[in-house]
Amino acid sequence: MLTVKTPDEVTQIIREHFPPRAIKTEQIGINEALGRVLHDDVIATEYVPGFDRSTVDGYAVRASDTFGCSAAIPAMLTLTGEILMGKSAENDLCAGTCFAVSTGGDLPNSADAVVMLEDTEIYGGGLIGITSPVAPGNNIIFKGDDVSPGDSILTAGTILTPHDVGILSALGAATVNVRCGPLVGVISTGDELVETTATPRRGQVRDVNTPLLMATMQQLGATAKSYGIVRDDEQELQNTLSHAVDCCDIVLISGGSSAGMRDLTVRVIESAGITLFHGVAMKPGKPTILGDIGGKPVFGLPGHPVAAYFVTELFVRPYIASLMGAKQKQRTVTARISEAISANHGRAEYIAVVLEKNDKTARPIRGKSGLIASLANTDGYISVPRDLEGLPQNAEVSVTLWS
Ligand code: AMP
Ligand code: MG
Repeated sequence: MLTVKTPDEVTQIIREHFPPRAIKTEQIGINEALGRVLHDDVIATEYVPGFDRSTVDGYAVRASDTFGCSAAIPAMLTLTGEILMGKSAENDLCAGTCFAVSTGGDLPNSADAVVMLEDTEIYGGGLIGITSPVAPGNNIIFKGDDVSPGDSILTAGTILTPHDVGILSALGAATVNVRCGPLVGVISTGDELVETTATPRRGQVRDVNTPLLMATMQQLGATAKSYGIVRDDEQELQNTLSHAVDCCDIVLISGGSSAGMRDLTVRVIESAGITLFHGVAMKPGKPTILGDIGGKPVFGLPGHPVAAYFVTELFVRPYIASLMGAKQKQRTVTARISEAISANHGRAEYIAVVLEKNDKTARPIRGKSGLIASLANTDGYISVPRDLEGLPQNAEVSVTLWS
């Protein structure tokens, strides 16, 4: 008998039964850090930029020297020199003079503005005509405008993005301490399954779940270990599961998770541990099992790849993110559905959608249950709560975007 739980109950059971434990960390170079979970807060110890810089190509000036000038009556300044990129000014700026400067270049002491090249004219004899006045601070980014010592730049748990990696470099952090994900064992079961490289004979299908689940784990920063395809044989599954539990922190078994005679997963889990629940009031994904073997979670996922994917997205992904203390941002957009949806009363239903018309419309994709190709090109999913029998066309929905 399935002791069916609601999705919320499942989340709660996972959280209560398998609370986060101490996690390993490692020091890595920032060029390997994309997508990893930062372990420590990053507090700036330097100014960025480290000196006042010009934001344009032009001339560093004292703004007061340009007041009142115009194209008809330019302010005439004496060009004292040029500040080369990567060099600092050797002399201070005296009244009535200017320095040529490039975008990003250093400014001489006493300069308080930069005039853009476009607002200048070059006269003979080292004279520059300024045709438009500047105010103090114009066209300058000041020392520390981006970052000052003591600023909190990134917080622990951040999943590092390309711009985070960029700011770490600006701060001189060549390496960062990141959290190691759990080791997740992945087992696919089914007599009909063959490897990706095989040509399936009639009755056979290629194993979709192993690569699908491995990729999901990789995306999360967890390490996945494949135990390959296991036949529908109780002893074989028991042996493989036992190896996986010994070696891994979490095990995902897909296939054989229903309550039928040929569905071995629950029997195999119970031969080594306990079942916390069997069955979730959701569609797809009803035949989902959570077991506990020696304190380690063993998820029995449905064989249908789409169902396995939804269950992983809804429960396994957030669980692993919480183990790593990762600040996962779930992004949603509000849209209207392009067609009415009928749903099963009593089961929360999850439906992949394609966003159209500038993300204003969500088109539900209801492939025949389990065909992974239906998820290609979808943007995310919507859910129909268990107490509704569907949604009318144009109903407002919240679309959760795929991670
Ligand atoms: P099961 O949960 O074992 O009853 O399988 C349900 C459906 O999912 C069947 O059509 C299986 O062939 C299919 N299936 C199970 N495991 C996989 C897998 N790893 N890759 C692709 N399809 C699978
Ligand atoms: Mg099967």
